[in-house]
Amino acid sequence: MGLYHCEGIILRTRSFGEADRIVTLFTKEKGKIEAVARGARRPRNRLVGVTQQFSYLKALIFTGKSLDQLSQAELIKSFAPLRDDLLKMAYASWWAEVLDVFLPLNEVNSDVFLFFLAGLVVLERVPDPILVSRAFELRLLRYLGYEPVLDRCVGCRRTAGPFAGFAPAEGGLLCPACAGAANGQLIPVRPATVSFLRTLYQADLRVLARRPVDPALGHELGRLLFTFIQLRAEKPLKALSFLQSLTAWTPPPEADLN
Ligand SMILES: [Zn+2]
Repeated sequence: MGLYHCEGIILRTRSFGEADRIVTLFTKEKGKIEAVARGARRPRNRLVGVTQQFSYLKALIFTGKSLDQLSQAELIKSFAPLRDDLLKMAYASWWAEVLDVFLPLNEVNSDVFLFFLAGLVVLERVPDPILVSRAFELRLLRYLGYEPVLDRCVGCRRTAGPFAGFAPAEGGLLCPACAGAANGQLIPVRPATVSFLRTLYQADLRVLARRPVDPALGHELGRLLFTFIQLRAEKPLKALSFLQSLTAWTPPPEADLN
């Protein structure tokens, strides 16, 4: 039992009991934690405003026998624009879902925390998040230790292309010879897409946010990364399904229709 201070971003909230809310908080100091916010579903409770998804807060946590308790919270940044815009909310929820699925509880990872925070700041401002999100997804996979192999054949390690495609179950590219011997799904990828994917590891999210988006490329990258992440997650990803259904019919903002 004790008290500690931390700062964190709310990945997820769920109702608990009659008026409480359990928040999943990704903190800089303690990694991913869960804490109950007592009374946070009562309209006049002081925790109502600060315990919304994506809120970035300074918190005082009381460690209990079973559940930790969010004792005090002070908003650092609300990220309200991410909740007010359906498309951005879908992207932010998807990022939060990846973190929630792949991060173990109580494992400190301040690099990932800072990367997530920086990502949300960019997401708030970018008109079309496709490329920013693809880079975010890929970099997150690297941080979390699930990096797909994109610089050689995952079967025979040959670095020279062309490659037959990306095999999600194998975790990377396959050359034609290895692809012939493998079973499982093979996603065709153009050589230009592979090169672009590799550049995404180094790309500055703020620079990507200003880059014009080729929707075909965005979707090709999405197909590859979504299938890969979905397979690794080993459970249905609700925020991903929502994002996919939304982007399937939403035209990209400021799209060139000529
Ligand atoms: Zn091979």
